[in-house]
Amino acid sequence: MGLTSVQEPAEAAVVAERLLDQIGTPIDIGGRHLLISASIGISLGESSAELLKQADAAMYRAKGHGDADYAFYDEDVDQAALNRFKRIAELREALGQEQFTLAYQPVVNLEPFEVVGLEALLRWQHPTLGEVPPLDFIPLAEASGLIVPIGRWVLNEACLYATRLRQTLGRDVGIAVNVSARQLQHPEFVDRVDAALERADLPPSLLTLELTESVLVAAGDRVELQLAALKERGVKLALDDFGTGYASLAYLQRLPVDIVKIDRSFTAMIDSGAEDLALLEGIVGLGKPLGLQLVAEGIERDAQRGIVQDLGCDGAQGCHFGRPAPAAAATEALSRRSSASAA
Ligand code: C2E
Ligand code: MG
Ligand code: MG
Repeated sequence: MGLTSVQEPAEAAVVAERLLDQIGTPIDIGGRHLLISASIGISLGESSAELLKQADAAMYRAKGHGDADYAFYDEDVDQAALNRFKRIAELREALGQEQFTLAYQPVVNLEPFEVVGLEALLRWQHPTLGEVPPLDFIPLAEASGLIVPIGRWVLNEACLYATRLRQTLGRDVGIAVNVSARQLQHPEFVDRVDAALERADLPPSLLTLELTESVLVAAGDRVELQLAALKERGVKLALDDFGTGYASLAYLQRLPVDIVKIDRSFTAMIDSGAEDLALLEGIVGLGKPLGLQLVAEGIERDAQRGIVQDLGCDGAQGCHFGRPAPAAAATEALSRRSSASAA
């Protein structure tokens, strides 16, 4: 939108804040609590195509701040936009050049203790920067749409690995794959999951798809149909990073979610702060009666493990049980565990 009567930047900021407030007001549609957020880029000057471009670039800076913020255009924004384009071009090449790998981290059942699955975590080995953390490139892959082919590679690779692992261990181990909103919204997503399972000859019940709250809260009819179709096949659905977004546990009842992974911000301090303990207790108390399987993320110490187990979490994940490791090392660690428990 163009603001013609603005005299100075502060006035534009006031308008941006008002807009963000308005847009951020929750809306109830058919009993669903919907939250929308926006990122606003502001550029000042004479009306022109250049002005629009600059506002667009500033919007990406605002997006980088997280949800619901605004940012002004300046020369740094130009540099940031350039870097962004460069990174997207590199991401586009990364798939063909086999710069992606997957690391696998154990997900355990607490009582009785057993490694029940592995989560596949994407790694990008950048030719000059070295390993780029997923949170630094996945948002870009999502924004550019590249997450669709990248995610498809992840799904195929993880299913193939799960089959090899199953053959090596001689027992079933599940595999969890993170899925972005863009992938789930793709009309062929279910077909791609079918194809990956078929190609790897993996039973659907051994695959868990991890979705974040924003994916589910924004789920339209098509996404709900896709989720129902996956569920029908026996694929498990997990809600990842629970507590960081807007989904309420009651809302989850309407969606075919089997597993809730409680974000590590809720478990990080449970062995030192009463407040955090009460929060986690609350989540477990609400989730249990809904028949959800509760998995505590980010468990680093035995004291945390003891607490989440006592509170009634079914499963857990974190460095305490094993760090994400390359395929060969993950297989090796699981084989060692299996032979130790058989002995
Ligand atoms: P996530 O799905 O919640 O994965 C768990 C993250 O927690 C991983 O970070 C893991 O390395 C980290 N973690 C595990 N145990 C501990 C612990 O004890 N302490 C701490 N502090 N951290 C722990 P990572 O690998 O950096 O991945 C970050 C996020 O990137 C993932 O969070 C997931 O949302 C996303 N991601 C990773 N791979 C993929 C992918 O293939 N596709 C998509 N769409 N997203 C992915
Ligand atoms: Mg995950
Ligand atoms: Mg998580």
